[in-house]
Amino acid sequence: MSKKFKAGDISDPYRVREGKRLKLEKFEPDDVGDYSGDDGKVRAEQRTASQLEELLRLQERLYAGQQNSVLIVLQAMDAGGKDGTIKHVFRGLNPQGVRVTSFKVPSSEEAGHDFLWRIHKEAPARGMMAVFNRSHYEDVLVTRVHGLIKDKEAQRRFEHIRNFESLLLERGTLVLKFFLYISKNEQANRLQARIDDPERRWKFSPADLEERKLWTEYHSAFEDALTETSSAQAPWFVVPANHKWYRNLAIVDALVAALEDLGPKLPPEPAGVDFTHLQVK
Ligand code: AMP
Ligand code: MG
Repeated sequence: MSKKFKAGDISDPYRVREGKRLKLEKFEPDDVGDYSGDDGKVRAEQRTASQLEELLRLQERLYAGQQNSVLIVLQAMDAGGKDGTIKHVFRGLNPQGVRVTSFKVPSSEEAGHDFLWRIHKEAPARGMMAVFNRSHYEDVLVTRVHGLIKDKEAQRRFEHIRNFESLLLERGTLVLKFFLYISKNEQANRLQARIDDPERRWKFSPADLEERKLWTEYHSAFEDALTETSSAQAPWFVVPANHKWYRNLAIVDALVAALEDLGPKLPPEPAGVDFTHLQVK
């Protein structure tokens, strides 16, 4: 698949253009596009609901056709909304055709291999959608921020990532990557909510507070990674994510536009059957 990626009207402004250095400060975590005003949230939720129906229709065709597949990468700072996105954007789909994989600190077996080894196994088979909650990008983000790899190694990894994603594209996999962009204040609110609400404490890790101190370092690692690996075929989106309802809308918009453009085809009808006159008695 060498086609250029087509984004929807809502998501296109957030696409990271190839060959242009990304500056996160040019984006606004609070942005709600055309959905400002008192009724913005309601309008966005209505649009999201209808787009989710369209996404289900397209996913069923993708699954039935068994020709192409879709890989969705979600990255964010802690409490950036990866779990919430998965819950809201993918819940209406046919579970047979979706697989979610969460990537944690590599196990000792995983760490004994190259960084793409554990990733490649989870890439979507034909007909499937795969959602990565964190991904191979951790290997050029957290590792870099903590000084576990040098800049030269990061450059080599960018090259490996570009080649890996090209391989997936060549095999008919759409690759869409979303950086859920929240502000530092919003992260504070969300982490505090996890601390205050006993129902949510399980999500809190004291390490989140340590990582928060490295906010600027993470942002420059994200800027590098997104600049180096966003292409017309496998784009990154910087999704404004302070407002969860707008984040969901922007993501579903990008998915629907990409799948509509792909136009998954149903398999041919069984040959030799007269479907117009056949009656089941
Ligand atoms: P969570 O998403 O809250 O369950 O946390 C998963 C943790 O695993 C995060 O702190 C990630 O930074 C970490 N992690 C994921 N992949 C890697 C990796 N390749 N190398 C180091 N840490 C990772
Ligand atoms: Mg966490």
